[in-house]
Amino acid sequence: MIYLDYAATTPVDPRVLDVMLPYFSGTFGNPSSVHRYGQQAEAALDSARETVASVLNCRPDEVIFTSCGSESDNLALRGAALAARERRGARRILTARIEHHAVSRTAEQLEAYYGFQVEWLDVDAHGMVTPEAVEKAIDDGTAVVSVMYANNEIGTINPVAEIAAVCRQHGVPFHTDAVQAAGYLSVDVDALGVDMLSLGGHKFYGPKGVGALYVRKGTALVPSQTGGGQEFGLRAGTQNVPYIVGFAEALRLTAGEREQRAAHVRSLRDKVIGTVLEEIPNSRLTGHPGQRLPNHASFAIQGADGNLLLTLLDAAGFACSSGSACKTGNPEPSEVMTAIGLSREWGLGSLRVTLGSHSVPEHVEKFLEVLPALVAKTRALH
Ligand SMILES: *Cc1c(COP(=O)(O)O)cnc(C)c1O
Repeated sequence: MIYLDYAATTPVDPRVLDVMLPYFSGTFGNPSSVHRYGQQAEAALDSARETVASVLNCRPDEVIFTSCGSESDNLALRGAALAARERRGARRILTARIEHHAVSRTAEQLEAYYGFQVEWLDVDAHGMVTPEAVEKAIDDGTAVVSVMYANNEIGTINPVAEIAAVCRQHGVPFHTDAVQAAGYLSVDVDALGVDMLSLGGHKFYGPKGVGALYVRKGTALVPSQTGGGQEFGLRAGTQNVPYIVGFAEALRLTAGEREQRAAHVRSLRDKVIGTVLEEIPNSRLTGHPGQRLPNHASFAIQGADGNLLLTLLDAAGFACSSGSACKTGNPEPSEVMTAIGLSREWGLGSLRVTLGSHSVPEHVEKFLEVLPALVAKTRALH
């Protein structure tokens, strides 16, 4: 099998696993305990928080550890919306249809159950949200704005620093989902000017089931999960020390190796994009041609059943995706495909190829050898 689905998840880096292992059984204390077991666990937690803060260029007490990227998005959106309504009477949420469901479904729930009103920002044909679109829609009644840093399905990178500046001018908190971006783009929250930023460990060679939310000092948030006072009162629950230690190490390694990793995958990605567009008739690139993640190639193939193509690729030994990992089995085109203006006939034929640390030119060559015949077969069966 050849793995070409690094946007869905990445394997844990062996260096990350090594630093995690002592915290499962040796140093197993509860960081909230007073005794020495607790102190040791707390020291590990503090050190992980400092590591994350140094990569994010923020203060350690602005880092909230969570159970995953989705939870970080939930805490940011729900927490900021509820706090803004309480403080300013604001009831509108600005976000986009291209967001991960962790954001868009949360926004929908806030509308359905909590009396908020969601305004869906326009995106262009590349799935990009512009600062102008935000400027047009934002006002005093806006509780929170959420625009993702880089899109998981189509790889497009949004101008988040410019969007953050617009939000700042209006005094509205701005959240960005950087779960997919963090593997390849700088997450310096000071340079980006964001108020909240979500991360998830398993997208950059850390473990699954652990994430973080950056919350700028002074940003009002109502916690999603109530209970003990862990994580500065913003996220109750005994911290998952081994996973948090692994998360911090994975982020530290990613920040240090970002350029090499990007250079490694970029040439492979360009080969995939160039060859697919050349050899598959009626295929097109989805997402931005230039402003896209360096490991990310995504396509729409007219008249091809994306899910069937994935099954045939799997049988041939290749693991790819048709978009978000959660979409398998869904007969409708994803919301992202619809948002960028693709018809059903194009949108159902989506294919995502994402590269990573174990990808080598031979993987890409083999994939490109088998793909045209499998696409033809899919079309014939359609
Ligand atoms: C994977 C992903 C998430 C969800 O992260 P989990 O840790 O799997 O919950 C959210 N947003 C984006 C953009 C993602 O790629």
